[in-house]
Amino acid sequence: MTLPAALDWWDSGERFYQSALDTIPDGDLDRPSLLPGWSRRHVTAHVARNADALVNLLVWARTGVETPMYPSPEARDAGIAGTASLPAGELREEYAAAVRRLSQAVRGHPEGAWAAQVRTAQGRAVPASEVPWMRCREVWVHAVDLGSGAGFAGIPEDLLAALVDDVMAMWGRAGRLPDIRCVSGPHAWGGGSVTVSGPLPRLAAWLTGRGAAGGLTFDGPVPLLPAWL
Ligand code: ZN
Repeated sequence: MTLPAALDWWDSGERFYQSALDTIPDGDLDRPSLLPGWSRRHVTAHVARNADALVNLLVWARTGVETPMYPSPEARDAGIAGTASLPAGELREEYAAAVRRLSQAVRGHPEGAWAAQVRTAQGRAVPASEVPWMRCREVWVHAVDLGSGAGFAGIPEDLLAALVDDVMAMWGRAGRLPDIRCVSGPHAWGGGSVTVSGPLPRLAAWLTGRGAAGGLTFDGPVPLLPAWL
């Protein structure tokens, strides 16, 4: 995927998340999200703190000074809990401010520094040019997790295909590729023995752990999937 494509998707993804969040009245932010154990507050706090974590990676790329996404997993969790406990108005403001900080960092990133290598929270070395795509995954998928009505059907098809590419590549690198071959329209992924086919939004939802296998067709037993991220 090219950087301009990722930047376009990132832009529209920020709007997708923001409009999903805007439809939730303050009093409903406490309700459970689609992610086990997380309220909508936690999801929004995580997406806010993720913006700052990605700013850290851009600072790292720009300065060469190692600046990890989060100082530690404990610090990441504490940051989410702290932001999630803010009054609704402050939570929304903090969310918007974090998105603005990321936006400034992306737009001000020097052309020559996109190739600089940084490390993700999972320990993977990536060029800084991967940061906009990393943010795409967060905003598009977590907007669905808010459970406010946004679904995978609202995500552009080429982006869904890129998400499936990402999931399969992630499993491939980890040596955890399930024994499946996924087919949707002109797209196909993997060479496993069970063929899974169906509409791309359903396929992407299932592969990312956001939906049951309903609406998909399997020519063998439905496999259990490893976690994606
Ligand atoms: Zn996330």
